[in-house]
Amino acid sequence: MPYPIQDALLPTRHDDQYHAPGDALKRLPLRKAAVLFIATVCLCLCALLYLQLEQSRRHDLNQARVASSNLTRAMAQQAEDTFMKADLVLTSLVDWIQVDGFGPPLRSRLQKTFARRVQSLDQLHGILLFDQKGQWIVTSFEDLPRGPGVADREYFKFHQQNVSSVAHIGAAIRSRENGEWIIPVSKRVNDKNGEFQGVLLAGIKMSYFDQFFKSFSIDDKGSMFLGLTDGTLLARRPFVESQIGTSLAKGEVFQNLLPRATSGEAMFTSLVDGVVRLYGYRQLDAYPLVVSAASSRDSILAEWHDTAFRSSLIVALVMLGVGLFGWVFIRQLRVGERVEADLRQAQEALELIATHDSLTGLANRRLFERALDVEFGRGARQHSPLSLIMLDIDFFKRYNDTYGHVVGDHCLAQVARAVKDCCHRKADLAVRYGGEEFAVLLPDTDIHGAMTIAEQIRRSVMAKNISHTGSPTGYVTVSLGCYSFMPTGRDSMDVFIQRADAALYQAKHSGRNRSAVLSLEGGIAELMRSDR
Ligand code: GH3
Ligand code: MG
Ligand code: MG
Repeated sequence: MPYPIQDALLPTRHDDQYHAPGDALKRLPLRKAAVLFIATVCLCLCALLYLQLEQSRRHDLNQARVASSNLTRAMAQQAEDTFMKADLVLTSLVDWIQVDGFGPPLRSRLQKTFARRVQSLDQLHGILLFDQKGQWIVTSFEDLPRGPGVADREYFKFHQQNVSSVAHIGAAIRSRENGEWIIPVSKRVNDKNGEFQGVLLAGIKMSYFDQFFKSFSIDDKGSMFLGLTDGTLLARRPFVESQIGTSLAKGEVFQNLLPRATSGEAMFTSLVDGVVRLYGYRQLDAYPLVVSAASSRDSILAEWHDTAFRSSLIVALVMLGVGLFGWVFIRQLRVGERVEADLRQAQEALELIATHDSLTGLANRRLFERALDVEFGRGARQHSPLSLIMLDIDFFKRYNDTYGHVVGDHCLAQVARAVKDCCHRKADLAVRYGGEEFAVLLPDTDIHGAMTIAEQIRRSVMAKNISHTGSPTGYVTVSLGCYSFMPTGRDSMDVFIQRADAALYQAKHSGRNRSAVLSLEGGIAELMRSDR
């Protein structure tokens, strides 16, 4: 049974240079690439989702802006029509009154005319004529109200103090006729000399606007309002009685938006309820009025929120799928890599078995021939000498006969270690050439170097003092033959080995336990050194 290869005799990495090609395929970092690919896919999905959602959010907001602009335009048109009709009625009546006066004989006719006008215009609550003290003179109603008059009303004071004949729109008030909320549109009545004679007033029903506002569909948190340019609230949806007449002057629309543009849209948080809304607003051209409509951001983006949730869910599921697939894939890669590593290890072991001797751990003849091929080429290219030492144990047949084959094998292993230990350079290759014959290939070494190594080996074997009663010396010795030459590129391996072998034969022939070198000049082996 052969002795196991000893660790010290295992082939060095240097031997790799003589290995057959094909086992050093450059591996791609597949696992890293897979992780990078999956991360990139997930990142791209997220980026696509973000871009798509951002685009649809902008689209929805733009749509809402257009809708808001259209709505405020319609509201402004309706408000202008409403007030203009009342204004025209007042203008014609004032012209008439200023020419004919409103003395008692004319009052019955005026009352009927007022009533007819009110009947013809839905928005009118009533038409009322006051004298210069604010007392009712004629109204569109059957009976004249009783009471202290309207001298305290803002619109009355306005006309008293302003000579302008332009219609005045006042803050919403409760009618003293029937308590209904009305928006007063009034005109000053002058006598022929332009002196203040009284006020003609048309009350516009707030409910008229209320109904108009209700004809539009806006969300629960949306709002619409009609106000004076000074911020006084005239009508609002939803109708909150306590807010009528309050001032919106501090609000965003009056504070910041109207001073910049007479119409537009803007998103901001309401000071009143903290709800974020898209406000559209428009100031009327003909009257000091402002209309505004607002939709809450939540309702504008409700559909977008649904889409965003669904899209995000789908993308999350896809990413989960990709992640799971990636995980399985990477696991498979890992298993594959492990199998491959095992295979590589097995291949290396096979390579080792195929190229090394199991008893001594030295290179075998297969690797020796491969090395010779490589070194012949290298020596020729680099013009460096190549040397070979052939070694044979002396009287080994007798050793076997004396101690048996098992001890013989052990002796072979010891000699192999001595040979290996004397190979100092990385490029030196120790070979078990056959039975009890060894070879040492020495690249870039001339004959003197080869002889030096040969002597080192010989002494090293002697120094081991392996007892050999069958040998004249009493211990195991070796004979060595050296040969060195300069490769040319057309050299024969067999000749190279034969010449080293011839030198070995010479050493044997000269008495063993010595190193010999083959002299080419003489064509015969010449003993260079002997040490008994
Ligand atoms: P010489 O000094 O002329 O070399 O004499 P020798 O007896 O050593 O002659 P030779 O070199 O021809 O001897 C070869 C012997 O080596 C034959 C065989 O018994 C022995 N041998 C060859 N291979 C092995 C091996 O693997 N193990 C053992 N134990 N002995 C081997
Ligand atoms: Mg032999
Ligand atoms: Mg021998």
